[in-house]
Amino acid sequence: MDKIERLKWLTDEVNKHNKNYYVYDNPTISDAEYDALYYELVDLENELGYSLPDSPTQRVGDDVLAGFKKKKHEIPLYSLNKVKDFADLGKWIADMQKATGKPEQFSLEYKYDGLKVVIEYNNGVYVSATTRGNGTVGEDVTVQVKTIKSVPLTIPYKSRIIVQGECMMTNKSFVEYNKTAEIPLKNPRNGVAGAVRNLDPKETEKRKLDFFCYDILLIENKKLNTQQEMHNFIIEQGFKTGDFFKIVNNLAEAQTEIERIDKIKDKLDVMIDGMVIKLNNCAERDDIGYTNKFPKWAMAFKFKAVELSTTLLDVVWQVGRTGKITPIAILEPIELSGATVSRATLNNAQDIERKQVYINSRVFVRRSNEVIPEVMGIAEHAPNEKQIVPPTNCPSCNSVLAQIGANLFCVNHKGCYEQIIDRLTHFVSRDAFNIDGLRDKTLKLFYEKFKIAYPYELFTLKKEMLEGLEGFKEKKINNILESLEKGKQIDWQNFIFALGILNIGKKTAYVLSQKYRTLDELKAADFVSLIAIDDVGEIVANSIIEYFADEENLINIQKLFDLGVKINAPAAVQANANFAGKTIVLTGSLQNFTRPDLTKLLLSLGANVTTSVSKNTNLVIAGADAGSKLDKARALNIEVIDENKLLELLNEN
Ligand SMILES: [Zn+2]
Repeated sequence: MDKIERLKWLTDEVNKHNKNYYVYDNPTISDAEYDALYYELVDLENELGYSLPDSPTQRVGDDVLAGFKKKKHEIPLYSLNKVKDFADLGKWIADMQKATGKPEQFSLEYKYDGLKVVIEYNNGVYVSATTRGNGTVGEDVTVQVKTIKSVPLTIPYKSRIIVQGECMMTNKSFVEYNKTAEIPLKNPRNGVAGAVRNLDPKETEKRKLDFFCYDILLIENKKLNTQQEMHNFIIEQGFKTGDFFKIVNNLAEAQTEIERIDKIKDKLDVMIDGMVIKLNNCAERDDIGYTNKFPKWAMAFKFKAVELSTTLLDVVWQVGRTGKITPIAILEPIELSGATVSRATLNNAQDIERKQVYINSRVFVRRSNEVIPEVMGIAEHAPNEKQIVPPTNCPSCNSVLAQIGANLFCVNHKGCYEQIIDRLTHFVSRDAFNIDGLRDKTLKLFYEKFKIAYPYELFTLKKEMLEGLEGFKEKKINNILESLEKGKQIDWQNFIFALGILNIGKKTAYVLSQKYRTLDELKAADFVSLIAIDDVGEIVANSIIEYFADEENLINIQKLFDLGVKINAPAAVQANANFAGKTIVLTGSLQNFTRPDLTKLLLSLGANVTTSVSKNTNLVIAGADAGSKLDKARALNIEVIDENKLLELLNEN
């Protein structure tokens, strides 16, 4: 095979494997094999000095764009008419049956809560992508959408075609992204628009979006007779379509499906806010036609909103342990997803400006399982509304605030009351020094009486000092001193967490403790070795480096040791060939181990333990009543063992 042929072959081959992975979720080769093909292609393209238009190496451009170009839609995009209950849906279905004079079928699909985009292909090649905009004019997002791996760069159909679909951030990508994000996204929907409408395509790529295709707006030289045919055609062309499509015959069938999806919608990997129901027969659609806003032959069924509106009573500015100032909205209490919500975050001053909310106005509030309640935007203005003015001085200590990135910070780390109390609370918490008996109130008292502002100073407390405090009886004093003494012996991962490094949560502390076995190793860690860790991104890496570059932090750490703190050396990694280097997932319930204990044990044997099954998983340990993880493991042909086999392998060490 000559080099040009090899380049063609490699391009097709890598595209095929991309599709298996990103569209079908069913990879057929290992990461290493994929990488070998991909980099051979990169090298060959460099050598020959050219690449094919659908080359997978060309997804992400290097250039940051100067601005967005407006683009007129060749086929105007309609909105959908909406119903909110089954009575109205039934009426619409009856209208359709009446209009055509015969029993009709209807297609039922998710109504995605993402960003609508249309994509054009010609000669089987990706040409352009445009946001919906106002339906007549959108924005050209060709280079951004090209970075989305589930968007095919070539399709088998060779005539011109324009498809419509939704750019989405799956919950999985959302969680992954937030692990290392400087400004975490509050929900997956916020992540999509900011990613697609981003002038730097590299940013789009980072969010790991998906594209779900559900409509063909234009197709030359072919006629598709039903929505079902269209759906099948979309799949044949290699697009991702989401996991639900159904044909229903009447209201009862539609209602059954819609009610079922409504119940499970929060567990789906994508955000949907309703269902779309369309007349299946395309020929009938033309007869039924359009209003000037909607097609008459399609309808959206909206789920009951998880977003409600309430009055924004006030905004308080809270100081955290790192000095970061967060605006908290005080709300007229409302019931939202089964909880009473009276406070919600407004993130930062820029966010308040963007959302255009005011004190006394009605605002939308959203709460979902994985995120704290958040004010989403203005619902209704009020005559007596007042501007929310960010403070110039710290609400706790009155020092002048510093703007760092999007956030305001109080940099008076030594003298800021709220900051100090939050810092001490973090230090004594269960996953840090785990010191019992030191509640908020006690820590405040210590600060007032003894000026204890830095965690290490807690270890300078003496019996005589405590005896002078009101309400401190002998037993209480002894308990506090004992737990302080006990706390001095601390596990390595807890110690890292206790330091209170910006952006380092419990999980990251744990991951760091596995990679760096001593404080000296962690201190010496450089950027490159830090970001090589799965859960550590640039932001986290920089936080760590900056923390240890600050002389004051090093002095405070030294003081802890001077006062008798000792870090328990982490258990030595003891490789067991059965597990070392393998990526393992646990599922089901086990007889002989708790999950955390088994995880620890496997890590100490050199394994990597993750929570979800993917093609990177090497081994699944399945206890009783294992569910979908086991099914997925079997589908991907991953080795599965039960608890007896596990014990056997452990003993082989
Ligand atoms: Zn302050």
